[in-house]
Amino acid sequence: MRISIIGTGYVGLVTGTCLAYRGHSVTCVDLDEKKVKAINAGETPIYEPGLPGLLIAQTSTNRLRATTDLERAVLTSEVTFIAVGTPFDGKSIDLTFIRTVASQIGAALRKKETYHTVVVKSTVVPGTTDRIVLPILEKESGKRAGGGFGVGMNPEFLSEGSAVQDFNNPDRIVLGGIDKRTQDKLREVYASFNEVPMLPASNSTAEMIKYASNALQATLISFSNEIGNLCSDLGDIDAVDVMAGVHLSQYLRSEGSARPAPITSFLKAGPGFGGSCFPKDVKALIAHGQHYGNEMPLLQEVIRTNEEQPWRMVELLREYTKELEGLSVTVLGLSFKPETDDVRESPALALITILLNEGVKVFAYDPIAMPAAQKALGERDVTYCDSLEDALGRTDYLLLVTSWSEFGKVPELLNKLDLAPIVIDGRRQLDKNSVKNYSGIGL
Ligand code: NAD
Repeated sequence: MRISIIGTGYVGLVTGTCLAYRGHSVTCVDLDEKKVKAINAGETPIYEPGLPGLLIAQTSTNRLRATTDLERAVLTSEVTFIAVGTPFDGKSIDLTFIRTVASQIGAALRKKETYHTVVVKSTVVPGTTDRIVLPILEKESGKRAGGGFGVGMNPEFLSEGSAVQDFNNPDRIVLGGIDKRTQDKLREVYASFNEVPMLPASNSTAEMIKYASNALQATLISFSNEIGNLCSDLGDIDAVDVMAGVHLSQYLRSEGSARPAPITSFLKAGPGFGGSCFPKDVKALIAHGQHYGNEMPLLQEVIRTNEEQPWRMVELLREYTKELEGLSVTVLGLSFKPETDDVRESPALALITILLNEGVKVFAYDPIAMPAAQKALGERDVTYCDSLEDALGRTDYLLLVTSWSEFGKVPELLNKLDLAPIVIDGRRQLDKNSVKNYSGIGL
């Protein structure tokens, strides 16, 4: 099938590359000429494991091309996915990018004689596809949805850091659509995913499935942090032991196995969730709920607990030194999770901002995300270290915020370098007995 994808960020580029790998002919569209050029040269503008090799294979065989020409991409394809950003503007979801792209696609459809399917892949609050995207498409194209074109909603569940793996091995594919024809088109797109449960749905249900999924995972994280914080305050209880016991529940184990199910990765105390999805999606759902008269008290608390969590790291630091002004600390990990360069809403950046405001001198190290963090923190005075070894020798306080596998070497390196800093492990990644001076969230 000929497919166009508007927006070549984490979702658009991974979707495009993986669909090309599965035999479709894909055109990726972005406003950003630099991204388009890089993609056509077989270079990935984002860090995502497995993506570089897969992208080169698709661009070198011309199964995937990138362009800034949206109209041509629509006119030469049968299905168009919208994968642009949907940020939270402080009050509600910001649909500016979605509206712009819907207008442009609608204008292209006016010139098209054959049936076309437009599918929203971006995360949008329930009602957006049918009540905002569809009317814009009808107005700009002069055609009727269900006649000249179909409108669908196909939420994406990939996680950054394992996006290629997730896209190629989905747990479900939600086929939202205004009619069977649209859903059948989506089924054709995903025909090669034959073992995967396919869930036909209305567009609004498809939109809500995505929010309910993200809100559930965010809730589990804030729940774990609340339990972890209580364990710390009670003393003599380690949240890691508690959660290991919780994970053994038959409800939380993979069927027929003693191994904890993947959902338990959200049932761990830490420095809080971040990234480009959970914070903005939960906030957008709260705002949407409130617009319809639902206060959404549980989700409001999920956000509040999360925003306080970086302060827990500061409190742990204060247990060693009351006065923070003039102190030097090293932050290990800047991305919101390992295996990504994405620092959007990263708890590490929230923590660094608090520390800088308290007059602390901050050193930082991340294997991949330092350029992105530098861009996000702008003029703020942070010293970026060249390597993990370099970072370990800089200060007497190490704050581990992102569990990159490289940080598993910290105890061995400290030993080798004959250093004994205070290690405050926000992720509980290290064995608590592996370094001389250890403390951590939930301990
Ligand atoms: P992103 O910010 O990484 O990428 C968006 C891209 O869209 C950018 O490259 C931008 O230049 C481009 N763009 C914006 N306006 C455009 C226009 N008019 N024409 C062409 N291109 C345009 O975003 P992302 O992280 O890929 O997320 C996209 C959507 O998918 C969001 O709604 C997000 O919530 C959702 N989502 C994200 C993830 C994730 O892990 N990142 C997972 C699931 C769903």
